Amino acid sequence: MPIHYSLDVPRGGSGGVGDLGALPSLIAALPDHAIVRLDAQGRVNGWGTAADTLFGWNAEEILGHDVERLFAPGTAGTLIAHIAPGGGRKRETADDQCRHKSGASFRAITSLTSIASAGGAVEGFWLVVRDVTEERASASSIEASAILLNSILETVPDAMIVIDDHGVIQSFSATAEKLFGYDEAEVLGRNVSMLMTTPDREAHDRYLSRYLDTGERRIIGKARRVIGLRKDGTTFAHELAIGEARGRGRRVFTGFIRDLTQRETAAAQLAELQSELLHISRVTAMGTMASTLAHELNQPVTAVANYVETSLALLQAGAPGSDAIVQEALAEAAAEAHRAGKIVRRLRDFVARGELDKTVEALSDIVDDACALGMVGAATPSIEIERAIDPTTGPVLVDRVQIQQVLINLMRNAVEAIPGEHGGIIRVTARPQGDFAQVTVTDSGAGLAPGILATMFGAFASTKRDGMGLGLSICRTIIEAHGGRIWAESRPVGTAFHFTVPRAGRETRDD
Ligand code: ADP
Repeated sequence: MPIHYSLDVPRGGSGGVGDLGALPSLIAALPDHAIVRLDAQGRVNGWGTAADTLFGWNAEEILGHDVERLFAPGTAGTLIAHIAPGGGRKRETADDQCRHKSGASFRAITSLTSIASAGGAVEGFWLVVRDVTEERASASSIEASAILLNSILETVPDAMIVIDDHGVIQSFSATAEKLFGYDEAEVLGRNVSMLMTTPDREAHDRYLSRYLDTGERRIIGKARRVIGLRKDGTTFAHELAIGEARGRGRRVFTGFIRDLTQRETAAAQLAELQSELLHISRVTAMGTMASTLAHELNQPVTAVANYVETSLALLQAGAPGSDAIVQEALAEAAAEAHRAGKIVRRLRDFVARGELDKTVEALSDIVDDACALGMVGAATPSIEIERAIDPTTGPVLVDRVQIQQVLINLMRNAVEAIPGEHGGIIRVTARPQGDFAQVTVTDSGAGLAPGILATMFGAFASTKRDGMGLGLSICRTIIEAHGGRIWAESRPVGTAFHFTVPRAGRETRDD
């Protein structure tokens, strides 16, 4: 007859014996724990129901058999040593290989507690067995996932940074180390804003708490272009995609970062090459146009000469009534001279600016792109960029690429004007000015060299050793082609460059 613990709780004195009174309820609370009672010789003399499930034996089959039957062959040794009389220990926990009735083995944590008589002699043992096969499997699958994740993180070309909901860096991938120049150990536990430039640097904690408060997703799930700050103080453009993960009451944000430096340097070079190419092709085309124009010009110039000569002859002859004819002839001459002027202007325009591809654009987009491109490749320790676009400015009607080029030129000049070792600030602002938007790029640099103000918008005016002196003259051509103006102004510290471009819907017509 099976022995039930509830009926057969041994009484006893010391050690594990004291716990035995609570055993029945303990058994009920631990369904995955098989509880087996052994006599002092290691034979089974008590068998719980969970043991049936775990080992496949029922009480009738197993009672009286040696405990060896419950273990994989040869593995019960350690246990038996403690069971042997005089083993002396009251409790032993081990990681064992147990054996099912079917012969299959499974991993288990076993625990053995001696049952002592009132006189202190060992009367038997409680053996508690817990199957850990599944636990181990899931632990090893977690470990496998972690290994897999690490191997991915080591190899994905994108850098990865994990932060918690306070912005504190939790993990920093190998590519992130390369990209930012920090070792993981240097950044772990620090706020991720250390990797950002103004204004994100100051605002990041606010972005994060706003998201946590409102749940409103502004950048999560979207990729956006931002500027990163390296350990050495230089900056670089990157694309940032943020994901969010929650689990076990924790929330983490994962940022994937793709370096855009190369792509943007290539794009900037391409844009430069393209505009160069356009310029060259216009100059070449001008050659073919020259003969046509010479012919076109010939007409008004000949007409001017004719009118003037006729007038001269009339005046010399002093014939009565000739005044009116002279006046008319001179008016015609002036009109022809204007026509010639227009032809020349057309030629100049064609050479200098080509066709404008005007579209309605948001100034802030052009400024953002230009700020990024203007800073590409610049060794710019701690140069801050501030943008302030007055929202009432509205969209502008411009050739986006060309206006970008103007801004890039101005930004590069500003960067070059700021002495390398000190750092400084470049401010880009825009505000409405009647039918135009006025854009201003101010730097905290060295200021204008004496005398350059008068000539710098002309071609080949440069104070730089390697300067071409073409940047500002190209800017002027572009801005004037838009019907705007460009000018510079010395500031107590640094220089301000202003230019205007037409606001959309208010374009002033060219003549
Ligand atoms: P480059 O940069 O090749 O010299 P630019 O036409 O762009 O040609 O500039 C002409 C000159 O104007 C520069 O050599 C410099 O002397 C002056 N300049 C332009 N921008 C600035 C600035 N932000 N601060 C001081 N000087 C400037």
